[in-house]
Amino acid sequence: MAHTAGNTKIGFIGLGIMGDPMARNLLKAGYDVTAFTLETEKVEQFAKDGGKGASSIAEAVEDADVVITMVPASPQVEAVVLHEGGVLENIREGGLIIDMSSITPQTSIEVAAAAKAKGVRAIDAPVSGGEAGAIEAVLSIMVGGEQEDFDAAKPILETLGKTIVLCGPAGSGQTVKAANQLIVAVNIEAVAEAVVFLKKSGVDLGAALDVLNGGLAGSTVLTRKKDSILAGDYQPGFKIDLHHKDMGIVTDAARAVGAAVPAGALVAQLVASLRAQGDGGLDHSALVRSVKRLSGENPDGAN
Ligand code: NAD
Repeated sequence: MAHTAGNTKIGFIGLGIMGDPMARNLLKAGYDVTAFTLETEKVEQFAKDGGKGASSIAEAVEDADVVITMVPASPQVEAVVLHEGGVLENIREGGLIIDMSSITPQTSIEVAAAAKAKGVRAIDAPVSGGEAGAIEAVLSIMVGGEQEDFDAAKPILETLGKTIVLCGPAGSGQTVKAANQLIVAVNIEAVAEAVVFLKKSGVDLGAALDVLNGGLAGSTVLTRKKDSILAGDYQPGFKIDLHHKDMGIVTDAARAVGAAVPAGALVAQLVASLRAQGDGGLDHSALVRSVKRLSGENPDGAN
């Protein structure tokens, strides 16, 4: 049975930069959503704005047909889903877990197996498109799991995104997301290097980025990040801390299958170095700050 707004109660765990607008888009589409997250004020605001607030995972999950999780990384997914008091302990038999966090493929495989052992369905459905994509409900959603669970989840996923693809069995969504993060990170690093090169050359940077974005060098990264990079505004967005986690996932996963990712490995080091310099809470476009430092420039200020 497809999970439409008319027949489905959703428990939503993780009202962060991504989860909050996603949960609100589900509300807008008419879904009955009960949310829990660690910051109490976010739960209260969600309840004020028409959703239902819960004070624990158990409360968010007990009446739910579907549970969506959107938390930072594998340890949080394990804590939220597998540990005592978590989703699996409280969800009804036959319920569906949609984990939309970006985590290791191995954790998704473990979650799917633990769910199956309890008569619960689970898919991994990480996303790409950033905060703007979450707000505008145009995310790209890469899914791992069984065809029938994908079909059941589709109306929910269509409320959150535009490009929704089943990539293979459990964990496959995460493998594709890891590739996504490799492409995004290398792309941002190339943009960052171009920005510093152009600026040091005395070219009108705004004009240069506009014309670059119209040709083969154009990208969603440039479209989404150009204005904030020009302003030197690195508010997240997508935190360097989270991209560091994702570069770890992709370099490990690539090594496990014998795939060489030399550019990815280099950018992973640059992301790690940014984090070590205290920039972990900034947006991943702060790779510009790293290139500025390497080029003998003050990393602060507009570009
Ligand atoms: P965030 O740090 O803004 O939010 C994470 C949320 O998880 C927080 O609100 C926190 O309360 C909640 N949480 C953590 N542990 C919890 C627990 N034990 N119980 C209940 N809630 C818990 O992170 P985000 O940027 O929203 O990212 C979430 C996931 O989406 C990450 O895996 C990230 O890699 C991925 N992602 C983020 C973006 C982006 O642009 N921000 C884009 C695509 C994918």
